[in-house]
Amino acid sequence: MGFFKRLFGSEKNEGYVDKQGVYFYVRCNNCGTIVRLRADKQYDLENNDGGFVWHKTIVDSKCFRPMPAVVTLNSSYELENADIQGGQFVSEADYGRQQKEIAVQRELANRPAAEPTTPEDKDLS
Ligand SMILES: [Zn+2]
Repeated sequence: MGFFKRLFGSEKNEGYVDKQGVYFYVRCNNCGTIVRLRADKQYDLENNDGGFVWHKTIVDSKCFRPMPAVVTLNSSYELENADIQGGQFVSEADYGRQQKEIAVQRELANRPAAEPTTPEDKDLS
């Protein structure tokens, strides 16, 4: 079923929609790295007073400093309150911007400006 869905149902579909996950974006105060987090609605969130609460210690991939967080969501899984130490919650757009910057920097690192691109490099790009 899933296989056929993927084959034939993709015209308007902008990709896989994760109905089971809630995403958060947290920027580390120490190194500035933005981490994307996924909370599973079924397994990670605890029922809390008509909404949900999520306890999580976030660690980024750069400085590995733990950021303990407590996130409160309403019954529609919308962020109501976020308590975090050592970091701050940011938007998906912030995350996207940083990912783009990282990609650009990686690109620049792979291609030193001093060296002109040769045809042999084509396969790698
Ligand atoms: Zn960090």
